[in-house]
Amino acid sequence: MTALRLEGIVKSFGKVEVLHDIDLEVAEGEFIVFVGPSGCGKSTLLRVIAGLEDATAGIIEIAGERVNHVPPAKRGIAMVFQSYALYPHLTVRDNMALGLRQAGTPKPVIAERVAEATRILHLEPYLDRRPAELSGGQRQRVAIGRAIVRQPKLFLFDEPLSNLDAALRMNTRVELADLHRRLNATMIYVTHDQIEAMTLASRIVVLRDGRIEQIGTPMQLYNDPQSQFVAGFLGAPS
Ligand code: ADP
Ligand code: MG
Repeated sequence: MTALRLEGIVKSFGKVEVLHDIDLEVAEGEFIVFVGPSGCGKSTLLRVIAGLEDATAGIIEIAGERVNHVPPAKRGIAMVFQSYALYPHLTVRDNMALGLRQAGTPKPVIAERVAEATRILHLEPYLDRRPAELSGGQRQRVAIGRAIVRQPKLFLFDEPLSNLDAALRMNTRVELADLHRRLNATMIYVTHDQIEAMTLASRIVVLRDGRIEQIGTPMQLYNDPQSQFVAGFLGAPS
C-alpha cells in the first residue's frame, strides 16, 4: 500500500519557484528522511504535503486518495514542528486532548488515546503540569503525543529535535525509532542533521535547490553517492 505519492510537485511563491517537479512514492510503514541544506525546500515540501501550502502544480495522494483540495485537518496527517506550539494555559493532558475534543471525538475514546500516548512517551508524571513547568525534551514529547492521539496515517516532522541539546537529541532519536516500530506508522522527517538521517531513515531523500538529488537507503547513499553533493552531505559530520 502506498502511503504517499507525489507527482510533478511544483511550488512557487510569486514568481520564485522553490520546488521543481518533485516525484516521490512512500510505502506504508517507511521512515523517510528529507535532508538538505537550509533553504533547499524541505519545510515547503512538508507543508505542501500537509496542505498548509497549496502546490502550484502536481498531484498529492495520501493512502491512494488525491488530496490536493482536501484541507489539512482532513488529510489524515499529523505534523510536529520545531517550535512545539503547545498551549501555555493548558495542562499536558489537555494539550494532547484538545485536537480530539475540537474534532468531536467521544470522551472515552479521547481518554483512551491520551492514556496510550502518555504510556508510550512516558509522560505519566507530567499530565497535570503546564508547558512552562516542563523541560524542552518533555515539551517535545507532548507535541509528539498530540500527534499520536490523532492516529494519523502519516506523521510529518519538521526538525523536531533541533532545539534540544545533544544528549537529549540522541535519547529522543532512539525513542522516535522505537515509536515508529511500535506504531508501525509512516513517517516523513525533515532534518539537516546527517546523523539523524543515517540512524532514523529507511530511505533518505536528498534535496538540493528544490529538486531531489538522490533517494536511497542510508547505506546506498553512503556507499554509492551519485554526486559530490551527496557524498559531501552524508559523509561529513555535522
Ligand atoms: P528549508 O526548510 O529546506 O530550510 P524552506 O522550505 O523553508 O527551506 O524554504 C525554501 C525556499 O523557499 C527558501 O528560498 C525560502 O526563502 C522560500 N520560502 C519559503 N517559504 C516562503 C514564503 N512563504 N514566501 C516566500 N518564500 C518562501
Ligand atoms: Mg525548514
